[in-house]
Amino acid sequence: MMTDWRNETEALTLKGQIKMPYTWSVGETGSRFLVALRDEQKILANRCSGCGKVYVPPRKNCATCFTEISTENWLELGNEGTVTAFTVVRYAYPLQPVAPPFAYAIIQLAGADVGFVHIIKDGLDRLKNGVRVRAKFGIERSGRILDIDGFEIV
Ligand SMILES: [Zn+2]
Repeated sequence: MMTDWRNETEALTLKGQIKMPYTWSVGETGSRFLVALRDEQKILANRCSGCGKVYVPPRKNCATCFTEISTENWLELGNEGTVTAFTVVRYAYPLQPVAPPFAYAIIQLAGADVGFVHIIKDGLDRLKNGVRVRAKFGIERSGRILDIDGFEIV
């Protein structure tokens, strides 16, 4: 009878880090969202015609009911929302969007049904779940998520 080598072999793990530049298409849905951030300082969302869920960033397909979201179902959200979760980053790491300290936050924008992940740089001592925040757009924008410079506590 053969023994199963998987029962005899120690399971090992390896640690590593990857820093790799890359470029990929954000697609038509992502492009419309990012162009609106860049050119109009507007946060666009889209609504699933199947279940009514409002997504920001907009999605091509609904994550809940898998309906393809129509190109007609776009809406503009305001720039304010509520923090529903966050973590404060206090260590420096090359892949972070800004120098610490800052917070990654999940923000429930008014009118959206899903959280929007972004950063908060100031007022970290006042940051807590339920606090109201507002998007602050950067002066120079290039069609990326950090065209919103961050969210500020209102
Ligand atoms: Zn849906």
